[in-house]
Amino acid sequence: MRGAPSHIEIYVSDIEKSAVFWGWLLQELGYAPFQTWDKGRSWKLGGFYFVIVQVEAPFNATYHRKNVGLNHVAFHADNAADVQRMTKTLEEKGVPILYADRHPHAGGADHIAVYFEDPDKIKVEFSAG
Ligand SMILES: [Zn+2]
Repeated sequence: MRGAPSHIEIYVSDIEKSAVFWGWLLQELGYAPFQTWDKGRSWKLGGFYFVIVQVEAPFNATYHRKNVGLNHVAFHADNAADVQRMTKTLEEKGVPILYADRHPHAGGADHIAVYFEDPDKIKVEFSAG
């Protein structure tokens, strides 16, 4: 039996705001727009698609990655230069970089990565190696 990733679906507090962020990021990473509907959007790369859906009240409690649930979403970078390019773009877009004091080694001395947050503060990792 095998189970390659199929999709991930994340509830967001503001679909329009999150669609701007994830649309930008995922297309930057080679994903193509896949589905669009009132309450959701998705983007696809190969056999995997990434979905965001507007959360419904009363389940719209604030997300916190230190609670039970998703901690972060990680994407492969081809190399350290791509991590640096992404970092620069995030800075230009005003997206705060997490662990800036340890960047780009916040994941360890031999690990090159940039960590940042989506509009709901879901942590995103882009790492080489
Ligand atoms: Zn990670």
